[in-house]
Amino acid sequence: MGVSTEQRIQIYNSLSGSKEEFTPIHNQMVGMYVCGPTVYNNVHLGNCRTFISFDIIFRYLKHLGYKVRYVRNITDAGHLENDADEGEDRIAKKARIEEIEPMEVVQKYTVDFHRTLAKFNTLPPSIEPTATGHIVEQIELVKQIMDAGYGYEVDGSVYFDVLKFNESSAYGKLSGRKLEDMIHNTRETSGQSEKRNPQDFALWKKAQPEHIMRWPSPWSDGFPGWHLECTAMSTKYLGNQFDIHGGGMDLKFPHHECEIAQGEAISNCSPANYWIHANMLTLNGKKMAKSTGNNILPNEIFSGENDIMDRPFSPAVTRFFMLQAHYRSVLDISNDAMLASEKGFSKLMHGLSILESLATAKETTGFDVAKWKQKCYIAMNDDFNTPILIANLFDAVKFVQNVNDGRESITKGDLDELGSSLNNFVHDVLGLTQEEQKVDHYLENSLNLLIELRNDARNRKDFATSDKIRDELAKAGILLQDGAQETTYTLKK
Ligand SMILES: [Zn+2]
Repeated sequence: MGVSTEQRIQIYNSLSGSKEEFTPIHNQMVGMYVCGPTVYNNVHLGNCRTFISFDIIFRYLKHLGYKVRYVRNITDAGHLENDADEGEDRIAKKARIEEIEPMEVVQKYTVDFHRTLAKFNTLPPSIEPTATGHIVEQIELVKQIMDAGYGYEVDGSVYFDVLKFNESSAYGKLSGRKLEDMIHNTRETSGQSEKRNPQDFALWKKAQPEHIMRWPSPWSDGFPGWHLECTAMSTKYLGNQFDIHGGGMDLKFPHHECEIAQGEAISNCSPANYWIHANMLTLNGKKMAKSTGNNILPNEIFSGENDIMDRPFSPAVTRFFMLQAHYRSVLDISNDAMLASEKGFSKLMHGLSILESLATAKETTGFDVAKWKQKCYIAMNDDFNTPILIANLFDAVKFVQNVNDGRESITKGDLDELGSSLNNFVHDVLGLTQEEQKVDHYLENSLNLLIELRNDARNRKDFATSDKIRDELAKAGILLQDGAQETTYTLKK
């Protein structure tokens, strides 16, 4: 399928600070790199928002007919605790605390990451490379940067020379910082570090004796710097210059700034044409942080085991909640906001479920389906504006409800068009599923049937059968209660 030519997407490019028309380098192919998780902890809800945002971009580009190569890495090595290339490796620290091997930490939290994102119905990327699987490429990259004159070695460690880079380019252009201001504001005095300048960053670090994750290199037994892996893996799978680079807002500086410096150092061109950053998620109006207790994990939302929400919310409702805000806006999650989203989600899904049973009329439709469809595309083409798309979907659902209630009519042709477009936008583009509701619906029907059979058995005094139904259901965690009027059930948690 070719790319539909009438769809022109505008993307807000963090590099220029404005919306730009999206033109891929290779016609109908799109290369997209998104910084993945550091796998030393259960995936944070804020990170899930970032990956859901890029899942929407991936899905929408595919929906338009682009062939997308989506690369999202797993950071499983060399991630030090602070930006100044000091402190302990986060994975090694967790390994020490949990008394397991660093690669067990990596495995445990990679599995958690995949499981959680699968619950949110995000599509897997085309390639998911790991940092430890690309040590050779990273060492090669350090050599290239040194050959180009931008890297220097001090006692087995290699650093990127930011001042040298700034002579021919502008370090800080993505995050809107100026190197002179950074130098002016730095408190570090010369002589405290082996770097020539505090702004320089590590490409390769010599490992201290206690450091577990280490690899041989021409400079020392050590490990790659934080920013190096993304340049090594993005250029390997997408080339020196590709279309989209994304990540959370917090990665703009220094991580993405350093990636731009590394990329330009080896190829004289900016690595990505469009830089996209997803904004953060707050909880009850405040920044989420484990240390303050203002924090909630995805699984705690799904299970209801938390002190913040009144009851559990499904992954689909949580995903829908996130899509009701634009990815560049700060989004605040709270019990009330989730309750409202749950209502909206079931209204949307109910609209979809009654589509098939709608009666069609011969006369004209009281709804301009073609115009509505165009408005949906205009919303998504305007920097992937999911809240406006959702507002349009609700307009259609309202009309569907009116047809169902006999207040409006629709022709067969328009119903087919409206139905397929609604399904495409809800399922393919927004990635929302009805699955969980179906399970509840099936369970409810089956239980009602069993209750009916049990009542029949009791009426004909076949207590062996009626007791068996009650006892077997109780074993399965479903408790029946006989009231004066009817029998109800509760599920044992
Ligand atoms: Zn990265």
